[in-house]
Amino acid sequence: MSESIIGLIIPVITLLFAGIFVLLWLRERQAKHTLFLAGCYVAMAIGFAIQHFTPAPDSKGSFLIMHLVYSTAVICLAMGVGLRAGVSVPLKALSAAVLITAILLLVTNFTDNQNPRLYLTNSCYGLMSAIIALMLTRASQQQRVDRAILILITLTAVQFYVRPYVAIGVSGPMTTEQYHDSPFYALLLVTVALLATSLAMALVAACVSDQLRRLATESSRDHLTGLKTRRAFENDAIEMLEKAYAENESLSVIVADIDHFKRVNDEWGHQIGDCAIASFGSLLRRMVRASDRVGRIGGEEFCILVWQCELEGAGRLAERIRATFAQSPVEEGGDDLLLTASFGVAQWEPGEGYGKLFARADRALYAAKDAGRDRVCCSPRQGGGASIVDIATGRTAA
Ligand code: GH3
Ligand code: MG
Ligand code: MG
Repeated sequence: MSESIIGLIIPVITLLFAGIFVLLWLRERQAKHTLFLAGCYVAMAIGFAIQHFTPAPDSKGSFLIMHLVYSTAVICLAMGVGLRAGVSVPLKALSAAVLITAILLLVTNFTDNQNPRLYLTNSCYGLMSAIIALMLTRASQQQRVDRAILILITLTAVQFYVRPYVAIGVSGPMTTEQYHDSPFYALLLVTVALLATSLAMALVAACVSDQLRRLATESSRDHLTGLKTRRAFENDAIEMLEKAYAENESLSVIVADIDHFKRVNDEWGHQIGDCAIASFGSLLRRMVRASDRVGRIGGEEFCILVWQCELEGAGRLAERIRATFAQSPVEEGGDDLLLTASFGVAQWEPGEGYGKLFARADRALYAAKDAGRDRVCCSPRQGGGASIVDIATGRTAA
């Protein structure tokens, strides 16, 4: 009775983890890897239940079934962790290991002694785990939880080689009847329970943190343009200012506002207005470098942080964007819908906070609006005079 309860512990724990992976998949169905991980733990549960409750798994058939069930678990694990890490899964190598072991199990004439079968199957799972560990070393993302998963899979590989030799070395040759009472079996239960649960916990932690990260990224994106929302952009700006201060780098900010946008909505309708905002957003994304940051900070207002760039360079970038936008009709509105935008530019002064920097760029934007729109105005640098300059004409704008 107590032995049956002990035997149930691993299948129940592994099934619980399988349930958690299914729940994670239900929350985010495109994350197929969580389904494979669920499959891995279901197969593990079935394997253990068969292994524990089959009185004497001595026929070639029952050994083969066990082997296929455990191999399914390992292949599902490979698919789960491989898909999650974005690396290609060496399915051919894994299937070859399963197949060769299955053929050896079938063609070899084993005596009553279980040991050669145990060496054979354990070596197969050890090799498969090593292949998975090797596969994971190619993953680009190596955060703490990813390293924990890699270490646990490597330990799993190692124990498949060490455990049979240690435990079988102690118990000597054993028959199928002696198997369940052997030190091998006791050690198997302990190591598998420990490794399977710690690996499952690491995998659950990884999947949950993936989901939280995706959620945070999604909520920091503006749906219409795919750019950062105002709040996410401001957080980036504060970080970038700190980095510029620490690294003594230059940094500039460009504020842009589409001109007479109310008219666009009035004359073309709100939907075309949305398309115009989206196309301006995608133009900004295309025209900045990967090190810059762009955000939609209001209805038709945008802001760019230009990394390692002084006022003149940022002004030229704003001018290029202005000219390109003025010549690019909004597709959905046909060739007739040509819009313009105004820009304000300011260079960060060491010690200046984001609020003050933004306010200077915004003042320059208002100067551009006052000067007739469709232009770029730059806020003066410290000691560079008090006037805002229209960069197209070089004249003082305010
Ligand atoms: P200005 O040249 O002075 O900037 O004139 P403007 O008409 O663009 O002025 P204002 O900034 O006051 O108007 C912005 C308009 O943008 C008002 C609002 O109806 C519209 N708007 C804000 N968000 C959206 C949006 O998401 N979609 C659409 N279609 N319109 C929006
Ligand atoms: Mg406007
Ligand atoms: Mg506006």
